[in-house]
Amino acid sequence: MFLVANWKMNMTRDRIGRYLAVLEGKGLSSILSGTGHEVVFAATHVYLEYLSEEVNRRGLPAKIFAQDVSSRIEGAFTGEVSVRNILDVGAVGSILGHSERRRYFRETDEDVATKTGLCLQAGVIPLVCFGESGEDREAGNTLKVLREQVAPVAEVAAKALKDGIDIPVYLAYEPVWAIGSGKNASCADIREVMSAVLEEFPWTAPPKILYGGSVNLDNVASLAALKNLSGLLVGSAWLDPEIFLNSLMALS
Ligand code: PEP
Repeated sequence: MFLVANWKMNMTRDRIGRYLAVLEGKGLSSILSGTGHEVVFAATHVYLEYLSEEVNRRGLPAKIFAQDVSSRIEGAFTGEVSVRNILDVGAVGSILGHSERRRYFRETDEDVATKTGLCLQAGVIPLVCFGESGEDREAGNTLKVLREQVAPVAEVAAKALKDGIDIPVYLAYEPVWAIGSGKNASCADIREVMSAVLEEFPWTAPPKILYGGSVNLDNVASLAALKNLSGLLVGSAWLDPEIFLNSLMALS
């Protein structure tokens, strides 16, 4: 499983240091050994370099992701952070199109597809979030909205593959109503969405699909057991290194 902790804007340098010290002290390497699980920490841009150096220094088996990248390659875009910038400081991938970015920063499906293309061209793993709002769901529009979000990403992924770029595309199904709400999607909901995404688009290489939304210690094992699910994207619960490690142990 691809297990991604999305730290959002909750960490400080000091807190990252203490988090990693717990993982080192409790033996993350041996907990993961032989499980096939891959662990990812997604930090704000300013901490990527520190995080990457600390993970290496402590010998922790973890990948570093950004939480977003600019839709521009380079140039006069004050305050933006490019794909090249995150690569320079040790990130190997980025979350893209998180619902908080779509909602608070008006990111469109096209922006997300552009960012996906830039990541693929630069050799950075895109982890693209998609998911319906509570209103979409109540109106019976779940699959319609998901198709609109995923279609431009599928197109970009197909083009990249045609251009010989062989980087895996990860998709995270994150129903907006499930994020931080304590209400996770049911296994049946997730199964339905995964089939729609895999069957309805002409993927040359099928994406790996993760689930995110109120994953916690009580539901982590049953969600992870879903057939064809490739991983989990977790916010609040994995801000605590003990819960993160206990979750890994519940999975192995
Ligand atoms: C998220 O924001 O990506 C997320 C899954 O959050 P939480 O686990 O807190 O619902």
